[in-house]
Amino acid sequence: MESIELHALTKRYGKSLAVDDLTVSVQPGRVTGFLGPNGAGKSTTMRLILGLDRPDAGTATIGGRRYRDIATPLRRVGALLEARALHSGRSAREHLSYLAASQGIARERVDEVLSMVGLNDVADKRVGGFSLGMGQRLGVAVALLGDPGVVILDEPVNGLDIDGVRWIRELLRQLADEGRTILLSSHLLAEVSVTADHLIVIQNGRLIADCPTAQLLTDEADSVLVVSPERDRIAEVLARAGGVVEMRDIDALVVSGLTSAQVGDLALRSKVLLHQLTPQRASLEDAFLELTESLGRAS
Ligand code: ADP
Repeated sequence: MESIELHALTKRYGKSLAVDDLTVSVQPGRVTGFLGPNGAGKSTTMRLILGLDRPDAGTATIGGRRYRDIATPLRRVGALLEARALHSGRSAREHLSYLAASQGIARERVDEVLSMVGLNDVADKRVGGFSLGMGQRLGVAVALLGDPGVVILDEPVNGLDIDGVRWIRELLRQLADEGRTILLSSHLLAEVSVTADHLIVIQNGRLIADCPTAQLLTDEADSVLVVSPERDRIAEVLARAGGVVEMRDIDALVVSGLTSAQVGDLALRSKVLLHQLTPQRASLEDAFLELTESLGRAS
C-alpha cells in the first residue's frame, strides 16, 4: 500500500504562508488525523496533495508520484474535500455511474458504494434535494468508487448526525484495517481522537506534532494532584510506592503512576494529612490546546 509523503511542502497566498515547510509521511494501515485550528492550512495541504493547487516549494507525492502523474487517479486516491451544497438534478446513482464510466470503473461498484455509505434508499432521488449529511455520504461514495488505496477526507464529519458520525468512524477503521492509507482532517480534536491512530497537528501551516494519538495524552493524563501540609513526607511515601512525583507549590505535588484511591490509602496508612486529592485528566483536547498555545507564545 502507498504512503503520502510531503517534503518541505510550502504554499504562499500573497504574503502569508498557508503551508510552511511541511515534511510528514502518512502511513498505510492506519487512520491519520490531520488536525489544526481553522485556517491552519489543512485544506490547502490536501489540495496540494491532490494536485488542485501548485506548491511554491517542496513536493507532495502518493506512492512516490505526484497526483497529476497518476494515470487512473480515482482508482488510486479517493478524496472528499469541503462539503458544499449540491445543485444537481441528477440522482446519486446517475452521478456515480457517470463518474464510474469516465474512469473505467465497473458499474456494479456503484451499487456497492451506495450500500457502503447507506444511500440505497435514496439512490434515485435528485442529489439537489439531499441534506448536508446525505451529501457527505455521497461524497464518501465518490471517494471510494475506485476502491482506492489512499483515502483523503476533509472534515468528513461536518453535517453528519450521530449515526453518521458512528458510521464514518467504523468505515474508516475498516478501510485502515484493510491496509489503506487514510488521512482525515478536522479542527476538533475530540472528533478524530476516537478514530485516528496517529495525529499530525499543524498550526499556521507548520508542523507542531506528528505522533501516535495515545502519545498526545501526556503522562499528566493519569496523574493526581496532591495538596498536603506535609508535602515532603507524602512525596516520599508515594515515591516508595512507585509513583513518579513532581513537586509543585510549597504544599502541592503531582504524582503519576498511582490512582487517587491508591494515594488516599497510602496517605491514611502513613498518617499524612491531605488537603486535596484531585485526578488530573488532561483530555486530548487540553493537550491539543496546550500544544497550539505554547507554539503561539513561541512565535
Ligand atoms: P484549514 O483547512 O486548516 O482551515 P486552509 O488551508 O483553508 O486552512 O487555509 C490556510 C490559510 O490559507 C488561511 O489563512 C486561508 O485564509 C488561506 N487561504 C486558503 N485558500 C486560499 C486562497 N485560495 N486564497 C487566499 N488565501 C487562501
